[in-house]
Amino acid sequence: MFWADSIAEDIIQKNPDKKKFIIRDEKTLSGRVHVGSLRGVVIHGLVAQALQERGKEAEYYFEFNDFDPMDGLPVYLDEEKYKPYMGQPLYTVPSPDPAHKNYAEYFGAEFLEVINRLGFTPKIIRGSDLYLSGKYNKWIEKIIAHPAEIRKIYKEVSGSQKPDDWYPLQVICEKCGKVGTTKVTGVKGDKVTYKCEPDMVKWAQGCGHEGEVNPYDGRSKLPWKAEWAVKWCGLPVDIEGSGKDHNAAGGSHQIASRICKEILEMPVPYNIPYEFFLIEGAKMSSSKGRGSSSKEIADLLPPELTRFLMIKNQPKHPIDFNPEGSTIPVLFDQFDQAAEQFFADAPTNQDQVRLFHYSQVSDKAPKKHYMPRFTRVIFFLQMPHMDAEKEIAELKGDKLTTEDKEEIKTRVEYGKKWLDSYAPAAFVFEIQKELPKITLSPAQKEFLSGIAKIMKGDDLKGEALHAKIHELRKSSTIEAREAFQAIYLALLGKDSGPQAGWFLEALDKDFVVQRFEEAAKQ
Ligand SMILES: [Zn+2]
Repeated sequence: MFWADSIAEDIIQKNPDKKKFIIRDEKTLSGRVHVGSLRGVVIHGLVAQALQERGKEAEYYFEFNDFDPMDGLPVYLDEEKYKPYMGQPLYTVPSPDPAHKNYAEYFGAEFLEVINRLGFTPKIIRGSDLYLSGKYNKWIEKIIAHPAEIRKIYKEVSGSQKPDDWYPLQVICEKCGKVGTTKVTGVKGDKVTYKCEPDMVKWAQGCGHEGEVNPYDGRSKLPWKAEWAVKWCGLPVDIEGSGKDHNAAGGSHQIASRICKEILEMPVPYNIPYEFFLIEGAKMSSSKGRGSSSKEIADLLPPELTRFLMIKNQPKHPIDFNPEGSTIPVLFDQFDQAAEQFFADAPTNQDQVRLFHYSQVSDKAPKKHYMPRFTRVIFFLQMPHMDAEKEIAELKGDKLTTEDKEEIKTRVEYGKKWLDSYAPAAFVFEIQKELPKITLSPAQKEFLSGIAKIMKGDDLKGEALHAKIHELRKSSTIEAREAFQAIYLALLGKDSGPQAGWFLEALDKDFVVQRFEEAAKQ
């Protein structure tokens, strides 16, 4: 069974009488959001969809975490401008673009656009709203009433020994507005005492202020693991998956779970642990000025293909995506194979059927249509005077439907993007208007002049022409590699190119004959 279906079945089996499920995910908006964070968004979105398709209500909440302190500076921001804000909650840091309310909203807007483009419309909630509105007050009260028990949980689960005077809370400094630098020193009734430490953390400097404050209604913040438990209780959450890093033995999920059960006395949400989404070529790509943010990767592919990429592996298997090389054409081919199963009258692989179903952005079922192979589209795009739509209609051998035309338009658009960005040299070619400056061996010249003779004869179609060329090659002493290199050198000025039969057939016959004769005469 496809993974989203089996997770939904498992959830229903464990909660047979429950009609409505709350699903939650979040992202700390400390900068441009890496594509890896999309994996969680998509997994939660798919499980919500799978539950809805089974007649359950599933509400998907996505939190813009804007209450965490700014604890690092992205390289693309002005260090001088942003350094003074280090340690402040993200929602109080100014936006790089004044069109957005604050720093977190600026990066959140870009991420949300990608989430929506993929067909997911979670309800957006903000950490700052949850704290400031007092929604977390009663849970904060429980947490600060049990500092010793919480220290004990940290110690038992992770082995981390918190000092006896450590409180699971940080106050927003009334003087400098930072939260990353404060240390709570005591709890007195409904107030806590604190100090804003000048050198408690390396990344921010506190102002030294000491004070006493009521920690409710957004005046304080919980440390991550206790906060996670409170976030579960606040909604309350029924289903929340989390990345591999949180699910290690002794990790944050175990600590949050114990705080949730033992201190807050609430059930722990159904967990879906998932592996990382890695960009193998990230380092190389960023040096070329191409990044691996969700937007940059989502811009490379039609939304259905991005969804497909994100969901084709089970959550417990990592996805290692390298946009270089032939990854993108291969991804299109895999997508087409799933489509073939989906549209088949008697599919042989139900997982592929479901995979294609879940890759759809629209909630309307797709109509069966012709899907031209991506590499063919790439070929047509680079051939002079060729109309991709006309050529594809010929390949289909039938009139193009509205859906066919839509598909061609999409593939042409993303084919162009790929040629301009990640397409490796082997896929990229340009017909040279003049004979390039090349040196051919006598055998290569003879071979080209032989092809010119063949082409002057009958009009041969791609495969027949390809066979004739092979015959010619075999009847001479020239090596295959050397022979085909001559074709590409004479036409493209490089030693590789598309399959020779299609390629020569697609070009103007007189042009090819004239070019090969010219090259042979040199
Ligand atoms: Zn301060």
